[in-house]
Amino acid sequence: MEKFFWADAIADKIIKEKGKKKQYVCASGITPSGTIHIGNFREVITTDLAVRALKDKGKNVRFIYSWDDYDRFRKVPANVSKDYEKYIGMSVSGIPSPFGKGSYAEYFEKEFEKSLEKVGIKPEFIRQSLMHKKCKYALLIKKALDKKNEIKKILNKYRKDSLKKSWLPLNVYCEKCKKDFTKIINVKGYIIEYECDCGFKGKFDYRKKGIVKLSWRTDWPARWTYEKVDFEPGGIDHSVQGGSFMTGKEIAKKIFNYSAPLYQFYEWVRIKGGKEFASSSGNVVNLNDVLEIYEPEILRYIFVSTRPNKGFAISFDNDVIKIYDEYDDLEHRYYEGLASAQEKRIYELSQVKEVAKKKPEKMSFKHLITLVQIGKAKGKRAKKVKNWLENYASEDFRFELQEKIKIKLDTKQKQALKALKESLAVKDFTEDELFNEFYNICEAVDIDVKEFFEGAYEVIIGKIKGPRLASLILAVGKGKIIKLLEKVK
Ligand SMILES: [Zn+2]
Repeated sequence: MEKFFWADAIADKIIKEKGKKKQYVCASGITPSGTIHIGNFREVITTDLAVRALKDKGKNVRFIYSWDDYDRFRKVPANVSKDYEKYIGMSVSGIPSPFGKGSYAEYFEKEFEKSLEKVGIKPEFIRQSLMHKKCKYALLIKKALDKKNEIKKILNKYRKDSLKKSWLPLNVYCEKCKKDFTKIINVKGYIIEYECDCGFKGKFDYRKKGIVKLSWRTDWPARWTYEKVDFEPGGIDHSVQGGSFMTGKEIAKKIFNYSAPLYQFYEWVRIKGGKEFASSSGNVVNLNDVLEIYEPEILRYIFVSTRPNKGFAISFDNDVIKIYDEYDDLEHRYYEGLASAQEKRIYELSQVKEVAKKKPEKMSFKHLITLVQIGKAKGKRAKKVKNWLENYASEDFRFELQEKIKIKLDTKQKQALKALKESLAVKDFTEDELFNEFYNICEAVDIDVKEFFEGAYEVIIGKIKGPRLASLILAVGKGKIIKLLEKVK
């Protein structure tokens, strides 16, 4: 066990590396090129946790999330019409939404923003399409153009083929066709001359017309500089030797005179069980899919309790029960004062809102599996259980309360079930008492215990196995069970 919880250790490191500041800036972001995968959620929650840890140390923090929606539309995702191929080369914010009003980028941005709110993550969103349209990066673009050869040198260190002599660290979106199949003919100060594959030729001042965009490896460090970013996590693609973080760090220092943010690598997240999310169908698992079966606090808990550099799988299979139990157990120990310092932090940071003063009343996921199926459960967690049963649970967990007797019972089973009916009619049992009564009945009737249970399950839920019988009978209510057992003839 480490001494400090990982998010607190990150916060300490930020303060140590960046020194005392009036405000710390923590960033995260993505190109809304399609549905945002749960794997990418790991990035924003890593930032969220660093933000919370800094705030818990009394620091003032700005949490920004960059929608890189001035990036080009590169590829049509599988869940979007093939007609969208005609938009390749335009910016993702410059093409229509595939599923309703607004732009393509907006659709996927809204989808993600809404689900982030449910897990208590509320960054300040920055739309790069707007920043560019307002020409906010003109000065940084000028610097990059002035020092293009230095940038080229940095990038070439890690490239097999050197960049062409004519290479520039930016692209122009054509004013006529809105695509970036353009070639820059001349740059003079703030004036760029270009021609496009569509035949259009243009000349503009990029302080007045925001149609240029720095290419990713220069764009990222330019934005760190602009927003004065102190911390940002990144996935494997940015983290490798010679990857965009490494070159970005050097470009930030040498071109923009800015010290790169503290960086945290995060490992990819896998999905276990449940639906087949074939990549060819484009049905990526997003935050909402996970929230269909996990409470927001438990979803946070899954991420909080694993260090960002460790991979893990989000379970949709029967492990869901185990994860709910694990969280409930942590909650219990938290309120009983039995949690370790690390566990306390995990619990606190798993909360969507502030930690409740009193332990929240909850029923276990497992118990709810029974209650939901006999129609006796309501509330937030019951809804998750229902979704899980309908979409992901294995057959063993599913049952349906019977109204008629559909099987043939043998004589001893009939006798035993009649005895059970009589016992239920005369006495109110606790779960333990009822469990003992089953054995009394078996002994009296001289029936094999297994046969008794199988018969009882068949009559009540139409299959030979099910949740604990005593608890099932009490949950359904003895009145209903007696009525059912009266049908045993
Ligand atoms: Zn054009």
